[in-house]
Amino acid sequence: MTTDIATARITYDKFYIGGSWVRPSTDRLITPIDASTEEPLGQVPEGACADIDAAVTAARATFDDPSGWASWDPARRAEVMERLATAIDKRAEEFVNRVSAQNGIPVAVAQQLEIGYPTAVLRFYAGLAREFSQIETRAGLFGGLIDVRKKPAGVVAAIAPWNFPQALSMFKIAPAMAAGCTLVVKPSPETVLDAYLLAEAIDEAQVPAGVINVVPAGREVGAYLVSHPGVDKVAFTGSTATGRSIAETCGRLLRPVTLELGGKSAAILLDDVDLDLTKIGEGLFASTLLNNGQTCFIGTRVLAPQSRYSEVVDAFTAFVAGLQVGNAHDPATQIGPMATDAQRQRVESFIATGLAEGARMTTGGRRPAGRDKGWFVEPTVFADVDNRAAIAREEIFGPVLTLIAYDDIDDAVRIANDSDYGLGGTVWTEDPDRGLAVASRIQTGTIGVNRYIPDPAAPFGGVKASGLGRELGPEGLAAYLQTQTIYR
Ligand code: NAD
Repeated sequence: MTTDIATARITYDKFYIGGSWVRPSTDRLITPIDASTEEPLGQVPEGACADIDAAVTAARATFDDPSGWASWDPARRAEVMERLATAIDKRAEEFVNRVSAQNGIPVAVAQQLEIGYPTAVLRFYAGLAREFSQIETRAGLFGGLIDVRKKPAGVVAAIAPWNFPQALSMFKIAPAMAAGCTLVVKPSPETVLDAYLLAEAIDEAQVPAGVINVVPAGREVGAYLVSHPGVDKVAFTGSTATGRSIAETCGRLLRPVTLELGGKSAAILLDDVDLDLTKIGEGLFASTLLNNGQTCFIGTRVLAPQSRYSEVVDAFTAFVAGLQVGNAHDPATQIGPMATDAQRQRVESFIATGLAEGARMTTGGRRPAGRDKGWFVEPTVFADVDNRAAIAREEIFGPVLTLIAYDDIDDAVRIANDSDYGLGGTVWTEDPDRGLAVASRIQTGTIGVNRYIPDPAAPFGGVKASGLGRELGPEGLAAYLQTQTIYR
């Protein structure tokens, strides 16, 4: 790595493959841009198919080594994972700076979720590796003994999006390491500098050569990785459209795949909700607007009872209008810029659609005054939204909330479930039992009562167009294991 002192630009010219820094196969480059200032942040090589070949070959050789990583006692792998967690923690501030610069996540949010959280996931799976028993012996119904062995799935292609690049990469790396798999990690081109920091931490932690290989690249090269003959399992987080295309490839190849895709979750306010936002504001913010609305699980469809609808509209309008919009590096910022110019255009086009559909915009909708650099858009609230409207059905992936009225609990459940997606959601009430009863009726992979945060100990993932399979928790480890039965 080199850093230009005058411009503070960070440059890398190699990939981390097979435990060393190797030259790229082409001279193509990726230039990450600061989302708050539109200034270039540095330059890294862009992976091509030949670099993926090299990375898969390295991962394959390490996995296939009969006395190598995959054959180790899981407790020994746990030691490596804990060393890696320590090496990542040492770089905490730099991770936060790089991620926030590249994708606009406010530093206050990055400090909670892009550092600390990924290493909690890594340590959680190191703990599971220490406990997990690879062989269970059963008595056969027809006599004899049967060993049921849990074996690592093999070489994993791990593909992450730009919104939480470190956390979402670690959702794959940690269970794969615990299981004894090896990986080719393909970060998104928008967030590459943090991926290099991770590669440096992997190097420092002396993770055995070839266990984790990192090649930043774009869509076509990602697709090449998914269909590579040396890959045994695919783990993907990203858009539903890309997930469908990856699923088609994996279906054809009969290759196991985990897909964490988009969402359009519901935040259901029950009629007894306490709208004092000094009490519930923090939780509500985290579960509806986190990371500038660029979070897959947030409840951007806010369902409010008719009996209190105008009160809810007023409370949300005041709440959202009062959010601090600013440079992602400012610790006071609550809403930073969109990650890319294209992402801002997407959000603005949904705002135009909302207005054309006749929804009532009660705050936001423009670019904030005085910010002519950075991909900012004001946090926006639409009231009087019909659940059939495009802004209620499609994932906007920006700070735009739609407020939808419901008649009674059955109507709220019907509207919440009337979605192509099913990833997250929340229920807000003074009565936790009532909240639990409503939450259990929602068709979604995860949901919270008066709070929401994916916990490393619990499975996370979606139903319907939100994906296939689960990450996190012991369930997330199972996705990286194969079962073999030996009769004896
Ligand atoms: P995206 O699907 O465009 O890209 C995601 C990753 O896949 C990137 O690394 C990209 O380079 C790669 N990619 C793109 N096309 C590919 C292909 N055909 N084959 C292989 N790899 C390919 O998504 P994005 O715009 O980066 O991320 C935003 C989306 O991710 C949103 O829809 C959001 O909801 C979703 N997301 C889901 C979760 C979840 O856990 N469910 C979490 C975060 C983001």
